Amino acid sequence: MKLIFLGPPGAGKGTQALGVSSSLNIPHISTGDMFRSAIKNETPTGLEAKRYMDAGQLVPDSVVIAMVKERLAMDDCANGYLLDGFPRTVEQAEALKDISEPDAVVNIDVPDELLMDRLTGRRVCPKCAGTFHISKLNDPTICPVCGDTLIHRDDDKPETIANRLSVYHAQTAPLIGYYTDNGKIRTIPGDKKPEEVQKAILSALE
Ligand code: AMP
Repeated sequence: MKLIFLGPPGAGKGTQALGVSSSLNIPHISTGDMFRSAIKNETPTGLEAKRYMDAGQLVPDSVVIAMVKERLAMDDCANGYLLDGFPRTVEQAEALKDISEPDAVVNIDVPDELLMDRLTGRRVCPKCAGTFHISKLNDPTICPVCGDTLIHRDDDKPETIANRLSVYHAQTAPLIGYYTDNGKIRTIPGDKKPEEVQKAILSALE
């Protein structure tokens, strides 16, 4: 199955994408994770992406599209994939249509008030890719799953979050209409417990 996960930053896309991709046995492709790893490895793509990410802006379409095209051509995508964080603009959606037509689009819907709290309190594990909220951690610096040191992403700091939310509304939210028109969208309320959201997504995809 070829899947796209849409939703604002903090909607729980990453967490849900991990669970759903492993249930459906398809690769989880997060463009944000790909950029973070490119930055860590100081590749040319990473160096270019960093200045946009740090400002809460989108990386230019041409850079993202080339990266995703290369990734989707890999063997493990032959039977499907889960794209998390791509497309984020109508231009990216149009490019994807030419590379590989998705079967379904999951839109995780969460009100803005909740997103701000989720993002400022979010900590991520660089080793096991787990995502946690500080209110649920005994020690906000240690990953409760693998014990590695948790990270507060630079783009989860309050000054960048407001920017990311407005970029989402201006550039990514129009994709909801785009995919509604072609009948592929399943909108799932994302303000419930992660397990409940996961169940709702899997049953919407049956
Ligand atoms: P994410 O981890 O999905 O929240 O992505 C983190 C940041 O990476 C975003 O705020 C953008 O700067 C950049 N990014 C990730 N995916 C895309 C995309 N499809 N188009 C443009 N920029 C992206």
